[in-house]
Amino acid sequence: MQDQQDTKALYDEYMITTMVAGFEPVTVDQAGGVEMVGEDGKRYLDCFSGISVVNCGHNHPRIVEAAKQQLDKLVHCCTYIYYSPLPARLAKRLAEITPGELQKSFFGNSGAEAVEGAIRLAKQHTGRQELVSLTHSFHGRTAATLSITGNRGRKKNSGPYMSGVAHAPAPYCYRCPFGLKPDSCDLACAQYVEEVLKYQTAGDVAAFVGEGLLGEGGILPPPTGYYETVAEIIRRDGALFIADEVQSGFGRTGKMFAIEHTDVEPDLMCMAKGIANGMPLGAFISRPEIADAFTPGDHLSTFGGNPVSCAASLATIDVLESEGLLANAAERGEQIMGRLKTFQEKCPLVGDVRGRGLMLGLELVSDKQKTPAAKQAGEVRRRCREAGVLVGVGGSLGNVIRLQPPLTITADQAEKVCDVLTSALTEVAKG
Ligand code: PMP
Repeated sequence: MQDQQDTKALYDEYMITTMVAGFEPVTVDQAGGVEMVGEDGKRYLDCFSGISVVNCGHNHPRIVEAAKQQLDKLVHCCTYIYYSPLPARLAKRLAEITPGELQKSFFGNSGAEAVEGAIRLAKQHTGRQELVSLTHSFHGRTAATLSITGNRGRKKNSGPYMSGVAHAPAPYCYRCPFGLKPDSCDLACAQYVEEVLKYQTAGDVAAFVGEGLLGEGGILPPPTGYYETVAEIIRRDGALFIADEVQSGFGRTGKMFAIEHTDVEPDLMCMAKGIANGMPLGAFISRPEIADAFTPGDHLSTFGGNPVSCAASLATIDVLESEGLLANAAERGEQIMGRLKTFQEKCPLVGDVRGRGLMLGLELVSDKQKTPAAKQAGEVRRRCREAGVLVGVGGSLGNVIRLQPPLTITADQAEKVCDVLTSALTEVAKG
């Protein structure tokens, strides 16, 4: 208990922290699998995975061992001034597991760096300057990635932003910006990209950037045919398709990458978070003829492709494949989704249940007009935490409960999560 107080005091005094308001975080310094252990000894089922990072579970022994072995051999070797075997082997592995003709990788340290690099390469290859992205999107906190992010809450106080960015409406079916219904909308939001290109750009678009499944915006899965339509429109205009799989990649949605639920083969793809199960690493991968637009020295990262992180990443991909975690993500996702959909019928606080695999969201509303119930979402999180389950809260309106547990979660653990969550929702709904 003493330690817990000390940690919080140190945070308050010495860290630049932007901790979510009213969040009351747990102080954790140990975890294993789906479980995190608080400094007070209390055990929690982690349903947020450090924001979708530890897809293979906390401290997976094979991944930890791979990193330890590499630590003893070589800790740092700048990938851009030495040949280094680990990033080279990982680049080959990424070419094998990513869709279509994606083949050549660049390594950085985070998701934002991956997106930043991908848009830079797209500009260099096409010789064009403009970008199109989506409202409700999130792509990172550097100047360029905030510029393409479509969310005022994330962008505030950081402008002026990069010019030449246009935003198309996100496929947010529950709050369709056109007021349409999914089964009869004819994908109006995807068709609207045509209007965006014609009337919001100068015809100089290098790339469209879209998340495989929108995460921070509130878990928004693209409807069937959405990205196919967008890809067709933007490619007709001469632009490239960049899939941001930073959050939705590495098995999270039941396939290795969320874009694989569609027929679109991206020209570039951005990865981070789950790529090395918690070791810092980001990457973008490109079709080879696009990658060749960078000439030596054009793009560099001192720490990018760190050998220890790459060793962890190679082990992560092996674990995802050999332990059947993609199939487990799909099955457990259906199990949780089934229970929550049934529960939704008797709990008006739950306006929508959506997602894919183990990237699930519950949008809370306080009335039939869909008024966002952000305060209630915070209260649900607090009650879940008290009962030993850590869930996320997010979305553009702050009213979405996010369930993104490690892909190793068992059927029993998934039941417990549903029990705790539905009883918290029942209590909060009573007011
Ligand atoms: N893209 C997406 C889709 C993300 O969800 C995030 C982080 N939430 C990022 C980019 C930025 O990643 P990082 O925080 O590692 O820079």
